[in-house]
Amino acid sequence: MPVLRVAVPTPLYSLFDYLPPAGVAAANLQAGIRLSVPFGRRELTGVLVAVVDASDMEVATLKSASAIIDSEPLIGPGLLELCRWACDYYQHPPGEVYPVAFPTLLRKGREHSALAAPGWRLTTRGKGLPEGALARSPKQAQALSLLQQAVAVPASRFAAAGINRAALRALAEKQLAETCDIPAQPAAIDRGPRPSLTPEQRQALDGIRASAGFSCHLLEGVTGSGKTEVYLRLIDDCLNAGRQALVLIPEIGLTPQTVARFRDRFGDGLAVLHSGLGEAQRYSAWEAARSGLAHIVIGTRSAVFTPLARPGLVIVDEEHDASFKQQDGFRYSARDVAVKRAQIDNCPVVLGSATPSLESLHNALGGRYRHHRLQQRASGGMPPRIETLDIRQKTLQAGLSEPLLQAVGDTLHQGGQALLFLNRRGFAPTLQCHDCGWIAGCSHCDARLTLHRRARRLRCHHCGAAAPTPPGCPECHSQQLMSKGLGTEQTEDYLRRHFADWPVYRVDSDSMQGRDAMRELVDEVNRGRPCILLGTQMLAKGHHFPGLALVGIIDMDAMLFSTDFRGEEQAAQLLNQVAGRAGRADTPGRVLLQTHHPDNPALRAMLDQPYHQQALGLLQQRQATGLPPYGQLVLARTDCADAREGEQFLCLLREALEPRLRGKAQLIGPLPAPMQRRAGRYRSQLLLHCQSRPLAREAARELVTAARNLPARGGLKWSLDVDPLDMF
Ligand code: ADP
Ligand code: ZN
Ligand code: ZN
Repeated sequence: MPVLRVAVPTPLYSLFDYLPPAGVAAANLQAGIRLSVPFGRRELTGVLVAVVDASDMEVATLKSASAIIDSEPLIGPGLLELCRWACDYYQHPPGEVYPVAFPTLLRKGREHSALAAPGWRLTTRGKGLPEGALARSPKQAQALSLLQQAVAVPASRFAAAGINRAALRALAEKQLAETCDIPAQPAAIDRGPRPSLTPEQRQALDGIRASAGFSCHLLEGVTGSGKTEVYLRLIDDCLNAGRQALVLIPEIGLTPQTVARFRDRFGDGLAVLHSGLGEAQRYSAWEAARSGLAHIVIGTRSAVFTPLARPGLVIVDEEHDASFKQQDGFRYSARDVAVKRAQIDNCPVVLGSATPSLESLHNALGGRYRHHRLQQRASGGMPPRIETLDIRQKTLQAGLSEPLLQAVGDTLHQGGQALLFLNRRGFAPTLQCHDCGWIAGCSHCDARLTLHRRARRLRCHHCGAAAPTPPGCPECHSQQLMSKGLGTEQTEDYLRRHFADWPVYRVDSDSMQGRDAMRELVDEVNRGRPCILLGTQMLAKGHHFPGLALVGIIDMDAMLFSTDFRGEEQAAQLLNQVAGRAGRADTPGRVLLQTHHPDNPALRAMLDQPYHQQALGLLQQRQATGLPPYGQLVLARTDCADAREGEQFLCLLREALEPRLRGKAQLIGPLPAPMQRRAGRYRSQLLLHCQSRPLAREAARELVTAARNLPARGGLKWSLDVDPLDMF
């Protein structure tokens, strides 16, 4: 007897079995359709994952599904397999994984319909009219003549020809014409002009083209080296082969400027998917991708789960970017899922970056990915000069030193634009001495301590060591211990007062509300008038400001001394990106970097070596410590109204896991999360450090099994993060 195995949208770790709804033919029960199923007292929309055979005894207790929603699968076998893989790899409930492949409207159970535009056509009676009929009402005659030229005419054509709805309604009343749906047509592909390739671009392109079927490529190219041009050529090949290309871009990278580059080259057959879309727009873009109407699908993280009719190429731009990792709920890495997807779809995947993640670099160096490098700027242009400003014992005004203020003033007076960068990590609580630069570090690890202000303690999140906050600096006995980060608002106020004659634009997620805010700002700045831009990561990527003459990095130390083991890698990537904003066009760029640690070896490495060299050094450190990419991490988190409940749960979990994981994983914790209290709840964590990926997968499975068997009191929630990016 056939039984339906359904992914039901609940946070439970299983699929649910149902009997087929009464009267539905077996041929209509294909994996990938949606069904409506009873669940508790509710009706939910689930995804049919498989049809299995079961004995009559097993089915005796099963309920029937209420109805099928789709007559044909909306997602194909490849995407179903990808979801199955993701459930297993990330050990996440299937009911929260499969729905990611659908737009919200369909998750809610709405009927699926093909994309169509409203149109008009002639009735049988209308078809009988001679040409030139209805001469007494010119508008109706004009409409008729349009209708006589095609089987159906889009409503927009009439509007464009200046024919109003009244004329069409008059034709309808005379039963000469009627409305109809016109199925959407694939957009024509126009090919815009393209530059001839540089020798490096040519070599990379030929290298990627040489491989048939699934292959994974790392395209490592310095900022401005023309990676995008290589993507565009690959997409060209892909479209010529009649296939679709999927392009993943970080959240802040998906700007109108980026989309315009693709549109200029290939015309309109583009589906763009990002979080700013309304539900209906998202559905249209998804359907255009699924049905094959769109040739190129560009989107942020979750677009990696978009169904494609004819997949042929996957590109992940800025592959190192943290926004590819989902940080809550179903915590997947879109980059890693993209590689798996290409494998399932048997097509090439290209990961591109000026500053590749150590994971991808490791794979490229080890031969698992093919490695292509672009080391020259395609459009000429000089790389910027980076100078450090030693701010030890210097007076700071809202975080700004006198030499930096001077440089900003000079830039403005010379008609240039200045960007001041203050990163979010500036708020990360580590303790520092303002007089000598001392930073609270762990005596057992090569790590900085995190300040827990409420508990007045410093803690190491790698080994668990803890100490009370010292009353003064242990090195120079100064009382000037700083623990507070700077806020952008404070700096903004100061800049407005100090440079009252020039506009100051603050760019962060608070000031850039609304879809057009960022575009308007970019347009305004690119009119070229002198101004100051003050902002966070939002400014560091994707936007081109040709008039930027100066970039100031207000707090390099916060980037340098993160408590996260990835801190140095991320600081190097960010520095590269921020510095890359300066001097992109003809303006030679200058970058000033404020630090208490001008001689810090990690900082020197960032300034004196290209990123690639520095990354090789960082890889050696990771190898020595067994941290990713050499080892694997799995993080269990609890989130609870009571701090003790969380720790107790993780203690029990640890006890349950220890005998099973002996020799397979090192357990660290339970520890309070670096940001222990958030939204009134307390978070704790238990870290599993494994030597290999297979061991990590086994450990993750054991962890879920053990956690499901433990009592979760006091509304405690636990979750798992495989390959965590951020330990917060
Ligand atoms: P990346 O993505 O590596 O930062 P881009 O693709 O944005 O680099 O290219 C940087 C600039 O160089 C762009 O203005 C682009 O139009 C230009 N460019 C890229 N390839 C070429 C080429 N082969 N010839 C001339 N200009 C090029
Ligand atoms: Zn000191
Ligand atoms: Zn430690």
